[in-house]
Amino acid sequence: MTAQALEQRDLAVVIGLEVHVQLETNTKIFCGCSTEAAADEAPNTRTCPVCLGLPGALPVLNEAAVEAAVKVGKAISADVPEETNFHRKNYYYPDLPKNFQITQYDAPICRDGTIEVEIEGERRAINVSRAHLEEDPGSLQHKGGSIDTADYTLINYNRAGTPLMEIVTEPDFRSPKEARRFLAKLEEVLEYLGVFDSTRDGSLRVDANISMVPADEIDADGSIDEEALAAANRTEVKNISSHKGAEKALAYEVTRQKNAIQRGRAIEQETRHWDESRGITVSMRSKEAEKDYRYFREADLPPLRVSGWKEEISIPELPDARRERFREEYGLDAESASKLTSTKAVADFYEDVAAAFDPDLAATWVADNLLGELNYRDMEIADVEGRLGEFSRLVELVDAGDITRKNAEEVVLRRMLDDGETPDAIIEAEGLGTVDEDEVDRAVAEAIDEHPGAVEDYYDGEGGAINFLVGQVMRKTGGSADPGDVNAKLRARLDE
Ligand code: ADP
Ligand code: ZN
Ligand code: MG
Repeated sequence: MTAQALEQRDLAVVIGLEVHVQLETNTKIFCGCSTEAAADEAPNTRTCPVCLGLPGALPVLNEAAVEAAVKVGKAISADVPEETNFHRKNYYYPDLPKNFQITQYDAPICRDGTIEVEIEGERRAINVSRAHLEEDPGSLQHKGGSIDTADYTLINYNRAGTPLMEIVTEPDFRSPKEARRFLAKLEEVLEYLGVFDSTRDGSLRVDANISMVPADEIDADGSIDEEALAAANRTEVKNISSHKGAEKALAYEVTRQKNAIQRGRAIEQETRHWDESRGITVSMRSKEAEKDYRYFREADLPPLRVSGWKEEISIPELPDARRERFREEYGLDAESASKLTSTKAVADFYEDVAAAFDPDLAATWVADNLLGELNYRDMEIADVEGRLGEFSRLVELVDAGDITRKNAEEVVLRRMLDDGETPDAIIEAEGLGTVDEDEVDRAVAEAIDEHPGAVEDYYDGEGGAINFLVGQVMRKTGGSADPGDVNAKLRARLDE
């Protein structure tokens, strides 16, 4: 199809993603080197002959990486064949010390899965054509400029050999926003499976494929004519490392491609680089074809058989199912259910609190108070994971009436997060334990005796008077009485 012909037609955006995620394992995929990067580690120290590609070094497949891949397969309802194998993908690039990458080619560990994504209130199944295991290359650091302008480039092989899973979708997205939604959902599922750590630098990298297809080639059910798809020249944008980056890079490409087509120019089939700091994509090279990689079987690894083993690998309840169950079992509204299942840690914590106290009280405390205060501080549940017992204790104290709700929310919880103290220590230090009834009664009587003017104002119907008296009682009780209670006690006594 010529660009002239395209220029006359309405265009639809077509996007397919290739997502690389680092799998959480203790060691690398083919050697015993740790995958844990210390913040201050020196370059090229977390390496060995295998991940440096030294002659004669032999790879040994990491069982934990395979287990993680099978979990992903189960979570996306993919076919996980009984037997798969590994290939060498040959290309020369300095981040690849062997000059080939061990990956899976025609026998990936997962095929034909789906991930459901909610897009504008509508549930859509995004098809995952394949997901395979491979090794991460090393990392490059461009000095004095970006990839195309740097003075020189440094190489660090500490990352080389980290287990990666490449998850390839069908071209099922119709907008950059949909692609972003998918990435968020994928990450959520991987996090639930416990195979992925989103806080790790570079743990998610996306190659985004995008083309413009005449809108009339798309059927009512959203499927696209195969020929039109193949005929559309697409660009592959590399170097995307976040959901937001994916949306921005793709939005840039939509504009760039539409402009080019409107001016009668053809879109080059090419690989482009997302320059995050400049917010643009730049041309890198013409797109390589599969034959350029000279794939051949990795003779140093035997076929991988998961039959008999894969049945034993179990996965936890996934976010969508858990959301549904929270609504049914605890009677939560959609928003609370969604907040409380945003991560597995939050959901587990909510269920612990709900079991010990009451589902509604637990929902208020976890979804509104705790998540709200964490959010305000740019913290996550992971930051307080070891202290969840302390939060249960706080809810327990409120539930038992040992502390007022107001003090719990506004003083104790905030100090817990700001200073890292336990609720009991804070209550003790601030003298917040609810006072016994006698003490409140005494304080009420005293406040009335000591402030005849305010009492008179009260009888004259002056609204502020009662608040003044409540304030006095609160002061006498060191802020530990419940203001609502005090108000009621004062009125009862004054109206006697
Ligand atoms: P290749 O063999 O060139 O890598 P694949 O069929 O493996 O092509 O697809 C790679 C990625 O490109 C997939 O995510 C796929 O969904 C996407 N893709 C394929 N065709 C198009 C298209 N016309 N527009 C956008 N993305 C596409
Ligand atoms: Zn190693
Ligand atoms: Mg491909």
